[in-house]
Amino acid sequence: MSDNMISQVADPREERIRDVVIVGGGSAGWMAATMLATALSREIRIRLVESDAIGIVGVGEATIPPIKKFNRFCKVDEQAFLRETNGTFKLGIEFHNWGMPGDRYLHQFGFVGRELDAMVKLHNWWLTGRLAGQADYPAWEDVFIAKAAARANRFALPAHRQGDPLGRFTYAYHFDALLYGKHLRRLAEARGVERVEGTIVDVERADGHEGVTALLIEDGRRIEADLFIDCSGFRSLLMGEALNEPFDDWSHWLPADRAMVVPSAPAKDGITPYTKGIAHPVGWQWRIPLQNRIGNGHVFSSSFSSESEAEQRLMATLDTTPLDTPRLLKFRTGRRRRAWAGNVVALGLSSGFLEPLESTSIHLVQSGLERLIELFPTRRMDAVLRDRYNAQSEREWMQVRDFIIVHYKLTQRTDSEFWKYTAAMDIPDSLSAVLDLWKERAILGVDGGHLFQLGSWSSILIGQNFLPQGVHALADRAEPAAVAADIRRIVDEVNRAASQLPQHHEFIARYCAAPAS
Ligand SMILES: Cc1cc2nc3c(=O)[nH]c(=O)nc-3n(C[C@H](O)[C@H](O)[C@H](O)COP(=O)(O)OP(=O)(O)OC[C@H]3O[C@@H](n4cnc5c(N)ncnc54)[C@H](O)[C@@H]3O)c2cc1C
Repeated sequence: MSDNMISQVADPREERIRDVVIVGGGSAGWMAATMLATALSREIRIRLVESDAIGIVGVGEATIPPIKKFNRFCKVDEQAFLRETNGTFKLGIEFHNWGMPGDRYLHQFGFVGRELDAMVKLHNWWLTGRLAGQADYPAWEDVFIAKAAARANRFALPAHRQGDPLGRFTYAYHFDALLYGKHLRRLAEARGVERVEGTIVDVERADGHEGVTALLIEDGRRIEADLFIDCSGFRSLLMGEALNEPFDDWSHWLPADRAMVVPSAPAKDGITPYTKGIAHPVGWQWRIPLQNRIGNGHVFSSSFSSESEAEQRLMATLDTTPLDTPRLLKFRTGRRRRAWAGNVVALGLSSGFLEPLESTSIHLVQSGLERLIELFPTRRMDAVLRDRYNAQSEREWMQVRDFIIVHYKLTQRTDSEFWKYTAAMDIPDSLSAVLDLWKERAILGVDGGHLFQLGSWSSILIGQNFLPQGVHALADRAEPAAVAADIRRIVDEVNRAASQLPQHHEFIARYCAAPAS
């Protein structure tokens, strides 16, 4: 290194970020506040600006298993958090009517009950029996312990004993999004985050370079920072409105653009430890069980259905009495091209939206935060860090997008223009490649960093009747009747194991019952 270069290197302490401002106090904002306050030095000031007048989206009640990593890192106490958010446990998502009306399968979280072979994945063995047309053959979902527990409404925390089938599942949560934000707010404030109440009326741009210098609040306050985290929801106040970052629209692959939501009374016959995703002639409906109510929402496309038809479909198919009048939310599927531009990082709805079919939005906030902590910049906003952040974010969003599209693409329904459209639509090349490889030889062509791995993909592909033509060469040699006997033994084992678990509502009552409201 030349003397000249040495003299140009500033004291790294001088360049450290000193001030972070988070815009927005929805789930994304308070997750960011909690995680950054846990990860960053106490010398870094963290403020969160939110507007009580604007409020939050307030839906987003189902999660996926990696949220437990967020909880571990942020020291979120599982029992306390579930008690305070009317939380319940989630073993997967039960899809109804997606292949054909009347079809049902579970996208379960976890592993097959037992592998038969060190080399060949179990789905190949299962397919050997299935493709040979074995009589009374178990469904693919039946080899998963999570399915056996879910269908019997049973739940307990996974066992940690080696070889125990009760250790071969994992779980996520359902919770009240509003209460979740409040819970995280308490944690974040206890760790030094300052909350600023007020509506931002203007965003001051930096002169001569991309970025933001300050926020102007309606009462005249001016808030400066080195780094801004845009969690301002669909409005995308900084990334969208101020920086004008282009939005890549994916609605030709995911045409739903509305959700009609309504809570209903809790079920009398227990609490299902899974979300339901029920396909309708246009779009689908979620059913998310909390301790004190069921969250319901009908996701549909305004190109294929009016709002009043959607409302009728939603209200006609509730399991329990509605507790409110339905509320309509509008959205656009896609994402801001860059998640990090200048000194602004967008998280949550301000960075983009993928419909909640696989409950991935809160996870995308979490992974965006993990990435930000790993690549945390200096005030120079190092381009090399930013570019890596953006490349990784783009890849992750596209992978999740493809996983959601596959549910629509693989329908065999022809009962409405909506399903005819999704079955016939072009799909991204990245997804075609996955489907081609699966069709040929039951091989899953996604990389190890993909959020959804073989257990998840095989559930959807097989659950929607997209069976491969052939299996792995080693499994090909097997005698189908002998394989089928092994598969039946695994199914018996997981059923026996699951029957030892308590009912989900009993477990909740013991472990994390919310105070009676
Ligand atoms: C129909 C639907 C269903 C969903 N279901 C799920 C699900 O099951 N699972 C899942 O993981 N995710 C789900 N999501 C996504 C989830 O709700 C969001 O990703 C998550 O809640 C994060 O929202 P947010 O914090 O980005 O935005 P919001 O909750 O909208 O928060 C935005 C914040 O910005 C503030 N703000 C905005 N403008 C200003 C201003 N001018 N001045 C000051 N403050 C301002 C607001 O006051 C608010 O605090 C769903 C979303 C929708 C639309």
